[in-house]
Amino acid sequence: MHNKSLTELSNGLATNEFSSVELTQHYLDRIHRLDKVYNSFITVTAELAITQAKAADKRISDGQQSPLCGIPLAHKDIFCTEGVKTSCGSKMLDNFVPPYNATVIENFNAAGAVTLGKTNMDEFAMGSSNESSFYGAVKNPWDINCVPGGSSGGSAAAVAAQLTPAATGTDTGGSIRQPAALCGITGLKPTYGRVSRYGMIAFASSLDQGGPMTRSAEDAALLLDVMAGFDEKDSTSMVKDVPDYKSTLNDKLDGLTIGLPKEFLGDGLAPEIEKAVEIAIKEYEALGATLKEISLPNTELAIPCYYIIAPSEASANLSRFDGVRYGHRCENPKDLFDLYTRTREEGFGDEVKRRILVGSYALSAGFYDAYYKKAQQIRRLIKNDFVEAFKNVDVIMGPTVPNPAFKLGEKSNDPVSMYLEDIYTISTNLAGLPGMSIPAGFTAQKPAGLQLIGDYFSEGKLLNIAHRFQQATDWHKQCPPEPSMQKPSTGQEG
Ligand code: GLN
Repeated sequence: MHNKSLTELSNGLATNEFSSVELTQHYLDRIHRLDKVYNSFITVTAELAITQAKAADKRISDGQQSPLCGIPLAHKDIFCTEGVKTSCGSKMLDNFVPPYNATVIENFNAAGAVTLGKTNMDEFAMGSSNESSFYGAVKNPWDINCVPGGSSGGSAAAVAAQLTPAATGTDTGGSIRQPAALCGITGLKPTYGRVSRYGMIAFASSLDQGGPMTRSAEDAALLLDVMAGFDEKDSTSMVKDVPDYKSTLNDKLDGLTIGLPKEFLGDGLAPEIEKAVEIAIKEYEALGATLKEISLPNTELAIPCYYIIAPSEASANLSRFDGVRYGHRCENPKDLFDLYTRTREEGFGDEVKRRILVGSYALSAGFYDAYYKKAQQIRRLIKNDFVEAFKNVDVIMGPTVPNPAFKLGEKSNDPVSMYLEDIYTISTNLAGLPGMSIPAGFTAQKPAGLQLIGDYFSEGKLLNIAHRFQQATDWHKQCPPEPSMQKPSTGQEG
């Protein structure tokens, strides 16, 4: 059952080949059996899942099936779920049980989807390896000695290991696309404002965006259909019709112009990833596309610009965790100051503290103009690079990440080298554009990702471009070996 696409699962439910309860139990059993190794879930909601599955079975037998009705899903533990712990990967929220659902969760509930549980993630979505989680690192299903990427590493690993048919993630600087690339799955970060951020715990509000993490573009279209749309509870969500993403999946690619940014190739890019990207792009030529070299001249400014803007917004967003309103509270505080400082000292991990320090510094009087204002000006230059590029091309392609999955612990003490993992993904968030990562081969048994960047609200086009590739290749159908077939690292190799 776990090899089927969402459409196949939906058909199986419609024709009574299996029930949603059977399907849900199948995935719960897989999680129980395999997730001790991967650690991709923080919370498994077995009871809730079976209750929802029973309701879905009833809905189906009443003839009220919709595409995701009865389909089990997993949600990044950043989306608030009523009555279910939502930790954001942090000790600070280890005891937080929201009294309401994020809009994304409401939408899935209304569609009749089933929640298997909440997936592991870097603390407050800060990271590129899933090692900053309070709940421990997640293992990459392709090599359990390697990271799955981050911050949506739990969702990516759970989809790759087939512990769930699909999952949700969020992407502030690459957190859907980068783990999708490292785990060999399909991930889509929509245009900023396409998916409601209501109830999605805020990291950097002007950059955060939720999106689907799936095994194929076709599956991603089904999830995005439910996730996207205006929400009056999110003032940054767009009043814009949601197209039927599935209906354009098969459009022909003849005449498509692909832009290849010269800044995305060469220096800093692992040669084996470059090779995989080249081969994937050749496939697109065979499908009728033409290539054009383009330039995004401000690419090298994206990381420094992001690491001012994102921490600045994070320092403001995370000020609400003070031990008074909700979340962790230190024992026996001496006074209010002691309550604030000890609560935050105990509740936040190192990476979160680092971001709060950087952000508070960048926003402080006297430094604001030099850092925050400057970063906003650079952000505009980066956006303008894309606006220029899209005058001549339909889509931009390149690698998602510069390197294949790296070993657990390899970069944890070197934040700058960790930050550089997002060199190709971050500028998309700064510009607010949609981006996607799809599996495009392997380098030494580890997945390589091809990134697709589209113009504003071109999610339908991106899904179409990705789907066509997936009709012609089968990288997205490859499955990792079960953990019992893999050797744990002795630390002595290579
Ligand atoms: N790795 C980046 C960071 O740590 C992006 C994270 C994300 O997209 N949530 O900020």
